[in-house]
Amino acid sequence: MIKKTISILGSTGSIGVQSLDVAKQAGFSVAALTANSDVKTMEAQIRAFRPQKAALADEAAAKDLRARVADTSTVVLSGKEGVEACAAETDADTVIDAIVGLAGLRPALAAVNAGKDLALANKEALVAGGSLVLKAVEEHGVRLLPVDSEHSAIFQCLQASPPNRALKKLILTASGGPFFGKTRKELKNVTAADALRHPTWEMGAKITIDSASMFNKGLELIEAHFLFGMPAEKIDVVVHRESIIHSLIEFDDNSVLAQLGVSDMRIPIQYALTFPERYPSPVRELDLAQVATLHFYRPDEETFDCLGICREAIGKGGLYPAAVNSANEEVNLLFRQGKIRFTEMGTLIRTAFAVCEDKNDYTLQDVFATDAAVRRAVHAAM
Ligand code: NAD
Ligand code: MG
Repeated sequence: MIKKTISILGSTGSIGVQSLDVAKQAGFSVAALTANSDVKTMEAQIRAFRPQKAALADEAAAKDLRARVADTSTVVLSGKEGVEACAAETDADTVIDAIVGLAGLRPALAAVNAGKDLALANKEALVAGGSLVLKAVEEHGVRLLPVDSEHSAIFQCLQASPPNRALKKLILTASGGPFFGKTRKELKNVTAADALRHPTWEMGAKITIDSASMFNKGLELIEAHFLFGMPAEKIDVVVHRESIIHSLIEFDDNSVLAQLGVSDMRIPIQYALTFPERYPSPVRELDLAQVATLHFYRPDEETFDCLGICREAIGKGGLYPAAVNSANEEVNLLFRQGKIRFTEMGTLIRTAFAVCEDKNDYTLQDVFATDAAVRRAVHAAM
């Protein structure tokens, strides 16, 4: 096994915990850990992995944590600055960004600007700040490695492409979520609790709701657009209920490559860390005879209107992907709080288009100004 030193941003979440499991099995050193406010989990992680630094974004929680781990050598930082310092100021070679939402963008840039490879689970960072992240990655000569299972699948398939790539299209698979096959009428009264019952993946609350609305697949369209330099019309989505095929690529000769495996995020996490090499992993083998059948369907874009919204945002470019991402973050939260209906989400997210500034070259400040304007617009439209 190769030797690595990694930092994990969002270590207390679903991806964070699985990343620590990979690190433990592989014997990687952990330089820094960060989270929002989960003191208990962070204390246990500090005792188990002994990082140089740790940070909680929440100031009060960080103060509590500092007192609890005073007997260790881990330096506890706080606030957004503390999280960014953990991303940048350690001897880690790779930073896993597993923060949820736009909050992960500044830390991702901090890691890249410090010359670290970035293993990115935090798709919202790339969706909202695509050109900023890509520019920083190029400037600093670091690697941007996808952790999202679909993008890892495409990245793995691309290793077999010729030098001219000869790439015709990318095909993202989608589980379809808990509301697959339902009509708009049937979805009118569904609750966040219904949406939180995802059929194949166990994930954080925000992405689980995004999976139910299929906004997650929309985010992944935008993510694929930036990662692989493909226009929206060359990225297809197919619903695949079993989540065994994690995505596919089609070449100019119509040959199609797919990446398969049991649905366990530790494979894409480990591949991002060991690329281009492969090692044994804690994930169980795929037993195809036991799976027996795989099903595929075209997405119902009328019922799940979020896919079209994200395609439109890619076409408009500039700050539009950031705008629809911010609108969705707000709408996702409002639905979880029981303040809006599931079937209202798409219409409310669309308010982003009206307030987004048309601007091709944008700055980080523009992204956050758009974020604030869009969130206000969503509330005004409720
Ligand atoms: P989660 O909610 O389980 O964990 C989120 C982590 O981010 C937690 O550690 C939390 O403390 C931290 N965090 C939240 N807000 C923060 C803030 N303001 N500042 C600093 N830290 C903050 O989420 P998750 O399911 O692990 O997802 C993380 C990211 O990975 C998301 O972008 C998601 O879309 C992506 N992703 C997740 C999965 C999955 O299977 N869970 C798969 C693919 C991609
Ligand atoms: Mg995914």
